[in-house]
Amino acid sequence: MAIAPDDIRICLEDHPAREPGPQPMAEPLVQTSLFAFPNYDAMLEAFRAEHRNYVYSRGQNPTVEVLEKKLAALEQGEACKCFASGMAAVSAVIMGLLKAGDHILFVNHTYGPTIQLARHLKRFGIEHDLLLDLSPDDVTRALRPNTRLVWLENPGTMLFRTMDVDAIGDVARAHGALTCIDNSWASPLFQKPIHHGVDIVVHSATKYIGGHSDVVAGAVIATAERMEQIFYRAYLLNGGMLAPFDAWLLLRGIRTLPVRMQQHEVDALRVAEWLRSRPEVGAVHHPAFGEPSRSLTGHSGLFSFELAAGGFDAVRRFIDGLKRFRIGVSWGGVESLVISPNRGSNLAYLDAQRMPHSLVRISIGLEGAEALIEDIESSLRSLSQA
Ligand SMILES: *Cc1c(COP(=O)(O)O)cnc(C)c1O
Repeated sequence: MAIAPDDIRICLEDHPAREPGPQPMAEPLVQTSLFAFPNYDAMLEAFRAEHRNYVYSRGQNPTVEVLEKKLAALEQGEACKCFASGMAAVSAVIMGLLKAGDHILFVNHTYGPTIQLARHLKRFGIEHDLLLDLSPDDVTRALRPNTRLVWLENPGTMLFRTMDVDAIGDVARAHGALTCIDNSWASPLFQKPIHHGVDIVVHSATKYIGGHSDVVAGAVIATAERMEQIFYRAYLLNGGMLAPFDAWLLLRGIRTLPVRMQQHEVDALRVAEWLRSRPEVGAVHHPAFGEPSRSLTGHSGLFSFELAAGGFDAVRRFIDGLKRFRIGVSWGGVESLVISPNRGSNLAYLDAQRMPHSLVRISIGLEGAEALIEDIESSLRSLSQA
């Protein structure tokens, strides 16, 4: 689907002129750890609001701030804070807003390290449950009196199942719980969760927002009031600040986000449809083939499929038979990537997660669908010949 002209403008717009005369086209990089003041009173004044004023770059930095304004605008939220990684953003939301005795409900397949963090937080008295059934009624039944946060991924990790974000948000709100969604898959261009009633959005900006596999970063978007809590209780003290140079790389990445997302969408759909036609392939888990989700206005380049032939051995041979796809974690860059949740030794985990053993996940880069299809075809052929 077409990307909104307003979003394209936000992604492309250069910095408003600060000085008269010729302006740099690219955002200046303010690579500094601290800011010096003309007098002591000016510093004391700045201390009153470290989330707004330049004092120290583990608080606010002009280059990082430009990025935060862009991401807040794209997500239609009041405030954004950027972090050293997606996991730093996830950690800050949970630690900034929850306390001992609170409960988190994770709905849908959730990014693995987020669940590992929740397990770790049991030591601090924060409880959680995982829910793989996605109807609002299932969510209602799974809520506990102390559920303070409902954590969503739409679509979910690895199997890319979709949900009705609006309806689940209504259920959570009626219960007095906050909702937070990990929007890394859709990017701010293909899903606007705040518009659909979600309270907090987190991103691994490492993925599509960066887009070039050269920076690890994260972001949180929320109301200004909630962001202040996250800032003072978690961001500032956990210390996972985004480096100014990494913010600068992300600002460069965002300039091509609309055109990249459009191409990822078209090429991934072509590859997914081709896979659906192949006898060597079982189910193709692409959100375009699943339950329609009213909050998704487009599809990115990450999806998975099952090999018709068996489990780990077939998975390994198929992956090793690919030449264009690189083998590696992460996704969202210009190069195509392949991985499987099946590590050969974790079948009990896969069964508990309701994940088929022959699942392969691919991230479609920008090499062109034809070249990628050719590569997959050749690996599938050698799989069936062996
Ligand atoms: C990668 C990822 C994260 C974590 O982000 P990092 O930048 O690697 O810390 C969180 N959620 C999802 C869905 C991811 O893919």
